[in-house]
Amino acid sequence: MAKMYYEKDCDLNYLNGKKIAVIGYGSQGHAHALNLKDSGCEVCVGLREGSKNWAQAEAAGLTVKTVAEAAKWGDIVMMLINDEVQADVYKKDIAPYLEEGNALAFAHGFNIRYKQIVPPTGVDVFMAAPKGPGHTVRSTYVSGKGVPCLVAVEQNATGRAYEIALAYIAGIGGARAGIMETTFHDETETDLFGEQTVLCGGVVDLMQCGFETLVEAGYAPENAYFECIHEMKLIIDLINKGGVAAMNYSISDTAEFGEYVSGPRVLPHEETKARMRAVLADIQDGTFAGRWIAENKSRGRTFFNSKRDQLAKHPMEQVGEELRRNMIWGGDKDLDTASN
Ligand code: NAD
Ligand code: MG
Ligand code: MG
Ligand code: MG
Ligand code: MG
Ligand code: MG
Repeated sequence: MAKMYYEKDCDLNYLNGKKIAVIGYGSQGHAHALNLKDSGCEVCVGLREGSKNWAQAEAAGLTVKTVAEAAKWGDIVMMLINDEVQADVYKKDIAPYLEEGNALAFAHGFNIRYKQIVPPTGVDVFMAAPKGPGHTVRSTYVSGKGVPCLVAVEQNATGRAYEIALAYIAGIGGARAGIMETTFHDETETDLFGEQTVLCGGVVDLMQCGFETLVEAGYAPENAYFECIHEMKLIIDLINKGGVAAMNYSISDTAEFGEYVSGPRVLPHEETKARMRAVLADIQDGTFAGRWIAENKSRGRTFFNSKRDQLAKHPMEQVGEELRRNMIWGGDKDLDTASN
């Protein structure tokens, strides 16, 4: 069993006298900065000059500096800008100001795992990675709870990197839920695998296939949306609470029988796993990382942007928007602070 830590294992005093620079004010950035501030830490946010998040962060009561000023000011520099821009920003605006005994922190291991960022030996390098979206990191903190986090230490220059990392995670509320120890290597590879095959890639394609099949067979798109997309969250909430057993308890026996009969028909296990192993191999040998870096550096994001546009035009997105506007469950106000 992986090593777990809870509030009793974390001592916020390790952050005493430490200035924390949170670089970026997107999904994770706003949550870390606000939670740390509410936990009594000394925080500033580092942003590009002219960033539209600047006024938003100040309105929330935070001090904002340019990335370089924040890096100079901070003893702990938390990288919460997009993974694909971190290496350039690090080289230009952060590396010059990292002093011995400082800490460089991440919420995902991509740039360390694939050696896009190679920090100097005198600094601590740790990971505080919430296993949930940034907006949930904030909303759970406000309601007295937290999102489970992963902790990892790549470099322990001060001999106190674990204590500081655990204190940081307590500061963002993660210790209330639980902290699991891992490595940058394993976090990066499992995070990429999970989001590509199951959580984001898998789920979106599965819902899209279901939606299209019903619509192409002549059923109302609104009906298809409810059955294949809207109910996904309700089902996942049950699994999240009590495993598949809790879902099966709550659904009808007819639905449970259909699960056993038809699940393996649409996802033939051995074939699906063979494909998943191929995705994993691309993650492990750096093929995926190289493709993502090239997409940003030399291809101007043409593939990424065309896929994003194509999806926005898909009837399932348009029907969903219409339904959300007209049904009382409404939108998620938490997402209003989302950037990009
Ligand atoms: P995001 O896309 O929501 O926000 C990125 C922020 O960086 C924005 O404020 C943007 O304006 C800013 N930014 C972009 N380019 C910049 C530049 N060149 N200079 C300065 N600022 C710049 O990002 P995110 O999803 O919060 O991801 C941040 C980190 O957290 C990533 O390492 C990601 O893998 C990790 N992470 C994210 C989630 C999540 O819920 N989104 C979960 C776990 C880990
Ligand atoms: Mg995003
Ligand atoms: Mg993840
Ligand atoms: Mg990820
Ligand atoms: Mg149903
Ligand atoms: Mg049942």
